[in-house]
Amino acid sequence: MKKLGFGSMRLPLTDPKKSGSVDYPLVCRMADEFLAAGFTYVDTAYMYHDGMSEEAVRRAFTERYPRDSFCLADKLPVSYVKAKDDYSRLFDEQLKRCGVEYFDYYLLHNISRKVTPILDDTDGFEFLKSLKEKGLARKIGFSYHDNAELLDDLLTRYPFVEFVQLQLNYADWDSEIIEAGKNYEVCRRHGKDIIVMEPVKGGALARLPEGASNVFRSLDSGMSDASYAIRYSASLDGVIMVLSGMSDLDQLRDNISYMADFTPLDERESAAVEKVMTILKERSVIPCTACRYCVNHGDGCPMNIAIPEYFSIYNTVSEFGHSWSTLLKYRNLRGDGHRAPGECISCGQCEEHCPQHIGIIGLLDRMRDMESLMTGGSFKL
Ligand code: SF4
Ligand code: SF4
Repeated sequence: MKKLGFGSMRLPLTDPKKSGSVDYPLVCRMADEFLAAGFTYVDTAYMYHDGMSEEAVRRAFTERYPRDSFCLADKLPVSYVKAKDDYSRLFDEQLKRCGVEYFDYYLLHNISRKVTPILDDTDGFEFLKSLKEKGLARKIGFSYHDNAELLDDLLTRYPFVEFVQLQLNYADWDSEIIEAGKNYEVCRRHGKDIIVMEPVKGGALARLPEGASNVFRSLDSGMSDASYAIRYSASLDGVIMVLSGMSDLDQLRDNISYMADFTPLDERESAAVEKVMTILKERSVIPCTACRYCVNHGDGCPMNIAIPEYFSIYNTVSEFGHSWSTLLKYRNLRGDGHRAPGECISCGQCEEHCPQHIGIIGLLDRMRDMESLMTGGSFKL
C-alpha cells in the first residue's frame, strides 16, 4: 500500500464559514486523481465536518468505485459514548453514512486520559475486538493524544490492538506537550504499526518562516516544504501510512508528486530537517493544529471565541511579524460576531477537548489586548 492517505478532516468547502458545506464535486475530482495515481487509503471520522466527511467519502469513493479498490478507515467518537449500547449504535450509523458493510481500519477516536475511564467502564476495547472477530473491521486500533506512559499502559493492557494513529512530525518530535518521539518509541517497543496524522502540523510545516524554508531551498530539489515533512514521517520504521488533510487539488497533486514513488529522506535531507527543527525550536509558537475540537465539540464555546483562528494569527505574527492581512483577519473575525480573547469566561470546555493540551484560557487572557498588540511595536505573550 502506498504510504499517502487521503485525510478527510479539512476538505474543500463551498462556504468557508460552514464546516459542513463540503464541496462534493471537487472532492470527487480529488478522489479520482488520488486513486488514479495508485493510492488507496482513505481516512474519515464521525465528527469531521459536522458529520459530512463520512457523507463525502460515500459520495466520492463508495458510490463511485468498487469497495475493494480502496481501504477505508473510520473512527468511533468515544466522547459520545455514555453506555455500552452506544458503541454498536454509533458503529452502525457510521457504516450507513459511509455506505459500506465493513471498515478496513477502525479506530477508537482521540484517546487520552479523559476518555480512558469511559472506555474501561463500558468495555470499549472489547467492543473493538468484537468487530475484528466478526469481520466488520479488518484492522483495529486507536488514534492517540496523550503521553507515552499512558500509551504504554494501554498497549500492555490491550495487546490485540494492531496499530496506533499518532501525531508525528519533526516539529513535535521532542515536544514535551505532544511527546511524538516518545510515543513513537512506545509503539515500536510493542511492535505496533503506526499511522501518522498531522505530518505537516496542521499546515504549519507547509508554510515555514523564511529562514527555515531557505534550508530546504538550498537542497535545490524544487520540492515543497510540506514534502520534507511528509517524507520525514513516512521514512520512519514502522510507519505504514501518512495522512494528509486534503484541502484542494494543488495540495493533492503536490503530495502525489513525491509520494507516488516514495523514497526515504537521504542523509543530506535528514540533516536539513534537523537544521529546520533547531530553527523552529528557537521560535515560540502555540502548538495548535487547528483541529477545531475546542470549538466544534458539543455546543462549542459559549462565548463564540475563535480560538484556533486567534492562535493561528498569533503564530503567524510571531513567525512573520505584523502585517495588515493578520490585522484584517482579526477584525473580520470580530466583525463576524466572534468575541475577543478577553471575553473568555473560563468555563473550561475548550481545554477539556484540546488534544494538544493547550492552556487555552491562560493564553486568551494574555491575548486580551490582541488588536493593539498586533499594531504595536511587539507581539509577545
Ligand atoms: S474557557 Fe473560554 S474560550 Fe474556552 S470554551 Fe469557555 S469561554 Fe470559550
Ligand atoms: S486549541 Fe486545541 S482543540 Fe482548539 S484547534 Fe487548537 S489544537 Fe485543536
